[in-house]
Amino acid sequence: MTSALPKRAKKRASPVERKRIPINIKTQILTEAGYRCAVPTCRELLLLDLHHIYQVSENGKDELANLVALCPTCHAYYHRGHISRESIFAYKSILVAINRAFDLESIDRLMFLESLAKDFLIVSGDGVLHFDRLIAAGLASFAPKSNNRGLLVTYSVNLSPKGKMLIQAWKSGDHLKIKHAVTRTVPRPNSGGKSPRGRH
Ligand SMILES: [Zn+2]
Repeated sequence: MTSALPKRAKKRASPVERKRIPINIKTQILTEAGYRCAVPTCRELLLLDLHHIYQVSENGKDELANLVALCPTCHAYYHRGHISRESIFAYKSILVAINRAFDLESIDRLMFLESLAKDFLIVSGDGVLHFDRLIAAGLASFAPKSNNRGLLVTYSVNLSPKGKMLIQAWKSGDHLKIKHAVTRTVPRPNSGGKSPRGRH
């Protein structure tokens, strides 16, 4: 009778992604990413993988701060070196920041405005309300449009320069650009002076 496989061979089977991530952490990470890939130029829906920014083998933990949602394609790109860890950090940091400031629908609308072939969207008065959070944060702006009889019926909504800067920074994966864009975007907590934010 042949003996079992050597124990060592079994042990080598990649421990990195095998560890079970607690379901509550998983849900929080997926929610943070809006159930989409965290890579802003991808934003693929569903079939997400959770990626450890610091691998388990590097003592990376199953914690919110160390996990990011990636689709299988971007996950594979990362492991092949096509996406840098710095970019993953940057994508993660912007997701955290915009999640604090906005709801997921507003984030989608921000991306939607950015994707428009024209620079602006024509909406009704009610339509403007869908962009209220972005407008209030200065990421989008609106202007009344009158028809040829001079009646005010619609509004144009577009990304503001600040909104464009944020999206460009997000897509660049450049941590410094993102930091700059986010600190000019996310409302600061009321005075008190010190920022509680720690350093990585
Ligand atoms: Zn992706």
